[in-house]
Amino acid sequence: MNVLLLGSGGREHAIAAALVKSPLLDTLFAAPGNPGIARIGQCVGLDAADHASVAAYCKANRIGLVVVGAEAPLVAGIADDLALAGIKVFGPGKAAARLEGSKGFAKDFCARFRIPTAAYGRFSNAASALAYARGKGAPIVIKADGLASGKGVVVAASLAEAEEAIGMMFRGGFGAAGETIVVEDFLEGEEASFFALCDGARAVEFASAQDHKRVGEGETGPNTGGMGAYSPAPVMDAAMSRRVMTEIIEPTLKGMTELGAPFRGVLFAGLMIGREGPKLIEFNVRFGDPETQAILPRLEDDLLALMLACANATLPDRPIRLSACTALSVVLAARGYPEAPLKGAEIVHLERAEAKPFVTITHAGTRLEGTRLLADGGRVLNVTAVGANVAEAGARAYAAIDAIDWPEGFCRRDIGWRALQRP
Ligand code: ATP
Repeated sequence: MNVLLLGSGGREHAIAAALVKSPLLDTLFAAPGNPGIARIGQCVGLDAADHASVAAYCKANRIGLVVVGAEAPLVAGIADDLALAGIKVFGPGKAAARLEGSKGFAKDFCARFRIPTAAYGRFSNAASALAYARGKGAPIVIKADGLASGKGVVVAASLAEAEEAIGMMFRGGFGAAGETIVVEDFLEGEEASFFALCDGARAVEFASAQDHKRVGEGETGPNTGGMGAYSPAPVMDAAMSRRVMTEIIEPTLKGMTELGAPFRGVLFAGLMIGREGPKLIEFNVRFGDPETQAILPRLEDDLLALMLACANATLPDRPIRLSACTALSVVLAARGYPEAPLKGAEIVHLERAEAKPFVTITHAGTRLEGTRLLADGGRVLNVTAVGANVAEAGARAYAAIDAIDWPEGFCRRDIGWRALQRP
């Protein structure tokens, strides 16, 4: 079978690396892909926003499955448009993608289907949002309703900060994404990411992970797309995973079916694990980046077969096979990230890192100029290693990083600290 993968980041490279292991795969196409993916698949210049062109390309190249990496095409309805053209997609349709595309929808959904999450209000003007925030007091969390590339959330430590965030969002700081906002209680606890595969009727636990959103060591500095991750998350033991399945994932699947929008694809629950148990912070309707880079090296099942089963409503009623080892992925970013990453510097001796045992490298923002590999984005490379535990995986990943010659790049040296600190 031919597969078309949409996306260009480290997450898509990790997905590509897992897909090419499948005996079901003939050719992997990726649009637009990246230099790492180009080594294992065929990169094509297609615009994921142009659904008609994607459909035509799929027909011409006998694509049996389209795998959508990021949320924007899903929220824009690419799965529905391709399904109308008779093309199978891994990922939800537009109506189901609202779980990520509209935070207000997700909160109202949780209230209706009794899914544990922070108490909230949904507002379309600053005065009522402010009044609600004042009634609640700080800390409090302000969220733009729509997609804002992970930047539409302000955790306000004071009411003054909350006021500023509300004002900024209604002044159009996030464009249409901030026309309505959610104001919600601040949740205490430990954050974790939980992934389940869904075929509309059935959900199967996939894996857990923890990421590191701040740019600086010790969780300092501005938020980023994620500076590193590891899987599994120690806080997500078997009992906690079971609770997340029964209290969050399964009611979501049932609820979406009741709304006439059955969920197919991967459901990614961002969780806060507190004293009362798991609470939902947010839903995502696609794999996480960089969590995926830390999850897929542990997968012992055929990813393509699983993705097809999601699309065909034939997910097996058995646990997914994952190795018991830990995988830890470190993001190498260009100096200046996230504000103003320095592009164009050459990266040398990547092959030395790639040659290390237990290590895989994924490209997230690179470009080839002749044979020279150049940094071409904020997050540029991911170095992932597996080991018996976080300490071993981390040591292997950092040893590989030290073999790379790229003075204009940097990484956090403390990925995995939370797991290492556990008693
Ligand atoms: P991303 O797509 O990058 O995960 P997002 O913009 O969709 O982010 P959220 O995941 O909802 O936004 O929030 C971003 C971060 O803000 C969370 O990872 C969490 O650290 C913090 N956060 C969000 N909501 C709450 C809450 N109610 N209580 C405490 N922290 C929160």
